[in-house]
Amino acid sequence: MQPILNMNLIKVKHNTAQIVKLARQYGVSVAGITKGVCGNEDFAKAQLEAGVDYLADSRIENLKKLKHLDKKKMLLRSPKKSEVDEVVEYADYSLNSEIEIIQALGKSAVNKGVLHSIILMIDLGDLREGIWYRNRHEIFQTVQSIVGLKGVKLEGIGTNLTCFGGVMPTEENYTILVQLAEELRTEFNLPLPIVSGGNSSSLQMIYEGRLPKGITHLRINQSVFLGLEIGYGKKLSNWETKIVKLQAEIIEIHKKPSYPQGIQAKMNAFGEIQTFKDKGIRTRAILAIGRQDMDINGLHPSDPHVTVEGGSSDHLIIDISESEQLYKVGQMIEFDVVTYSSIITAMASSYIQQEVLKYEVV
Ligand SMILES: *Cc1c(COP(=O)(O)O)cnc(C)c1O
Repeated sequence: MQPILNMNLIKVKHNTAQIVKLARQYGVSVAGITKGVCGNEDFAKAQLEAGVDYLADSRIENLKKLKHLDKKKMLLRSPKKSEVDEVVEYADYSLNSEIEIIQALGKSAVNKGVLHSIILMIDLGDLREGIWYRNRHEIFQTVQSIVGLKGVKLEGIGTNLTCFGGVMPTEENYTILVQLAEELRTEFNLPLPIVSGGNSSSLQMIYEGRLPKGITHLRINQSVFLGLEIGYGKKLSNWETKIVKLQAEIIEIHKKPSYPQGIQAKMNAFGEIQTFKDKGIRTRAILAIGRQDMDINGLHPSDPHVTVEGGSSDHLIIDISESEQLYKVGQMIEFDVVTYSSIITAMASSYIQQEVLKYEVV
């Protein structure tokens, strides 16, 4: 059997609804994001049922798949120059940081007779996308240029945090964004309704009531399927966890030493320096899944007495010596998939059956 990934959408919907409810209290709108699940439609529907205000994805091909769903669509990654026509067609909003791209979007929108909404990204220190916040002249000039363009409308400004530099949102950095929005409103006489804060790393702030007034929008993805606040990795009260499970088939069970025998290479096949602990003779099982299938680092056996020893491109080695179960070759073994990286790679993998995303209790 192919490895099977299962995501419990009832739990995803529950978690998303918790965020939406809280955000409403602060007048904050929420974009439900589908990029981690490759634009999966059932997931998008679960987001809609939970009450999100926008559907967002970083890839236009995913938004295209969701075209028929009646909700404003937002492209999270700056459009590629080569795809502006599609962006204007399938997204109502896009996050942008290059005037050249915004000009191209405007041109395309004029040709199509539509108006495309722009959120201008400001980098507050995480060092991924956006104009550097201290370069005020550049920010004001960019806004000036956007205002003069046909086909596009500046709807707001935004920032992204905790993605590259690991920088957390704080009252200080969010206040910089809020104040900047205020100055731009005054200078250019614009409403700028959207001041888009960050992603799942903002949840702790909003739970503690510390989200600065003036942040009006959040973009949330991974926390709803990890069941955690991101940044401190805290479990949120009233939230569902253990949402994504994976099953893989046992192809070998043997008793073997736990310490390799023979002359050891400096590195393994993956360029890693491995260390082994001699635990004597152990019962080991091999599963038919490996690093080419997905990032295997986030796999936690559901059986608490089983440990993951490591893996290669197509093999995962586990230790079942302490288990009370009598595992057999041909049987599927279950894991909780607990990291963002493991979930997104498993979702995108053609080797894995994504049996996800059905409204069945798993
Ligand atoms: C991926 C992404 C998000 C969502 O991040 P999570 O931490 O998964 O909630 C939000 N905004 C942008 C621009 C993104 O690329």
